[in-house]
Amino acid sequence: DIQRTYNFNAGPSALPLSVLEKAQAELVNFRGTGMSVMELSHRSAAYEEVHNLAKSRLKELLSIPDDYEILFLQGGASLQFSMIPMNFLQSGKKASYVMTGSWSEKAFKEAKLFGEVYQAASTKEDKYRTIPKLSDLIFDQSDAYLHITSNNTIYGTQWKVFPDTENVPLIADMSSDILSRPIDVSKFALIYAGAQKNLGPSGVTVVIIRKELLEQANTNIPTMLKYSTHVNNNSLYNTPPTFGIYMLGEVLGWVQEQGGIQEIAKRNEEKAKLIYDVIDQSNGFYIGHADTDSRSLMNITFNLQSEELEKKFLSEAKKEGFVGVNGHRSIGGCRASTYNAVPYEACKAFSEFMVQFQKHN
Ligand code: PMP
Repeated sequence: DIQRTYNFNAGPSALPLSVLEKAQAELVNFRGTGMSVMELSHRSAAYEEVHNLAKSRLKELLSIPDDYEILFLQGGASLQFSMIPMNFLQSGKKASYVMTGSWSEKAFKEAKLFGEVYQAASTKEDKYRTIPKLSDLIFDQSDAYLHITSNNTIYGTQWKVFPDTENVPLIADMSSDILSRPIDVSKFALIYAGAQKNLGPSGVTVVIIRKELLEQANTNIPTMLKYSTHVNNNSLYNTPPTFGIYMLGEVLGWVQEQGGIQEIAKRNEEKAKLIYDVIDQSNGFYIGHADTDSRSLMNITFNLQSEELEKKFLSEAKKEGFVGVNGHRSIGGCRASTYNAVPYEACKAFSEFMVQFQKHN
């Protein structure tokens, strides 16, 4: 029997057991090739099949329209912070950023290096407990783009509805909630996500880009940092992270087997509810960080009444086998990340642990 832990890591995070087992079974002899996926040429037919299957599964699961391209890049979501303004912040234009946490701040900081940027809204004053109201976003129809972070991994907030930006390309960092719920891709000009939460292992960054956006891209930038290079070469301009893309394809296959995004979204709601209910019924023993309306279904952040009690909580949680429930090192507190591959049973066990801990303290 395999000992699988209750993994609440924020990323890299839990992967479906069946995917790991399949990868293990195929590891030394991938589908009759006598090689592992890692040993295949990225120009071989066997690898090409893996590559294109991952793309087609993502297209199907997210209902990505035909006028979009799916890219598998490297450099993490962090490199997207730079590539986006490099490619799309044209001189004479401004780009606007909605500030909802540390990752928005990092994206904003990079964009500043390439041109004029401003904040369309910020909830920093409020310790990033909320997502701004759509009516509070201030941006201009002539802006190069508007950038948002759909789920704030560190503070535990999530956009529930997305703005209608009309002529302004909407760009979203969906690193920590892509594939967790249905989205209308056609609202976005570009979506990006590091794979290491809902999609697969780290090392692959998924970019979904409206082809029309490429027509407005700056040209005087390094080849590897141009989106058009990767669009024109099916993400095979250079050697892609082949094993990560294989794993991504298998994780997408697992989502399909589970019944697709609708079913996954329903489960994610049920899982998060288990833990939020304990927080809400604890009479202030557990203090949720996010405002109720802005709560993330992926990262559940909370505090206890003192640092001392928090320490005790975290150490007992660890002893009970719950991994990764400490908050991000920048803000402390507690955080349970309940991504797609975290089973209902793990969330149930954790919520029961929380109830027991309160009883005894
Ligand atoms: N954006 C968000 C919302 C994230 O959660 C993270 C990583 N946790 C990043 C960006 C940075 O991603 P990467 O480490 O892939 O560069």
